[in-house]
Amino acid sequence: METKFQTEFRRKLLQWYRKYKRDLPWRKTRDPYSIWVSEIMLQQTQVATVIPFYKRFLNRFPDLRSLAKAEEEEVLAQWAGLGYYRRAKLLQRGAQEVLARHGGELPDNAEALEALPGIGPYTAGAIASIAFQKPSPLVDGNVIRVLSRVFRRQGHAKSPALQKEIWGYAKDLVDPAHPGDFNQALMELGATVCRVALPSCGRCPLQGLCAAKESGDPEAYPETPPTQKTLKLERAVAVALQGEAILLVKFRQSRWFQGMWGLPHEYVAETGASREIVAEFLENHLGIRFPKAQALPSTRHSITHHRIDSLAWIGQSQGKPRLLGPISEARFFTPEEIADAALPNFDRKVLEAAKII
Ligand code: SF4
Repeated sequence: METKFQTEFRRKLLQWYRKYKRDLPWRKTRDPYSIWVSEIMLQQTQVATVIPFYKRFLNRFPDLRSLAKAEEEEVLAQWAGLGYYRRAKLLQRGAQEVLARHGGELPDNAEALEALPGIGPYTAGAIASIAFQKPSPLVDGNVIRVLSRVFRRQGHAKSPALQKEIWGYAKDLVDPAHPGDFNQALMELGATVCRVALPSCGRCPLQGLCAAKESGDPEAYPETPPTQKTLKLERAVAVALQGEAILLVKFRQSRWFQGMWGLPHEYVAETGASREIVAEFLENHLGIRFPKAQALPSTRHSITHHRIDSLAWIGQSQGKPRLLGPISEARFFTPEEIADAALPNFDRKVLEAAKII
């Protein structure tokens, strides 16, 4: 039986959401595939960044079948710029599995969804509740913040004990009549009102139900997790030209960008020798000579807790690429081809510094 607290919580939250929800493209559809794409893109990425990528991706892959049948390189090219490329590969693998095992229809319940590649408990809950109206809970960073404040729970946001507790609260609270709206409302409240710093308790629909507000110090919940140290890396990068065309390669093993094109590079301990390092790399691993390279302005990029400085050199090169070591593919791209290539952002920044794109 529904408790008075549940009734009040659901009613106030849903009323607020219907009045104040942001107009986002994935809220205009009930198509499970489109909702799946949006949820994967929104992982670790801001809403405003996702919107153009979401539209472009669905334009190119309008349904599950078109994604499942596409070349992986084209999927990565459509994802280029969004980062965390493993998400794109798993999304495509998931689409292929749905086609092979479920006749092209996404399963309608969280348990079966979670068995698919790239779908964890959060995404399974989101698709089941938003696309299929199943009363499945979900928990993300926003939900942890809102519920740890409402119930004034101890622990930091990444602690397994707090997360387990929050999943329990989310399960109890999800509205069986409007689960999709309820879950989106909870996340929306965390994103727009119950912010990390300076939550707007005065305009929060849950203020009468919130123990942290009552305590007078809502920002104390959840506790701040211990910070992870930033690791600084430097890499020597080659912008090796032949005429206007630029050499791109694929590494056999790549920590972050497996399967993507990139500029030839090597991580270095000593920045002073970066010019010799790129020349030796091209000679030893590709049989390319790079005799008169000029320095480009260095660029900086962050990936997870790594800060990577790129020390790049540009110049005409000589020779046809041969694959002699860690490189699995290599070829020269025109600047126009590069615009559509699956190329990570830290290499795009180098090419922007070189005024090539
Ligand atoms: S009352 Fe304040 S702390 Fe509590 S949920 Fe609302 S915004 Fe967050």
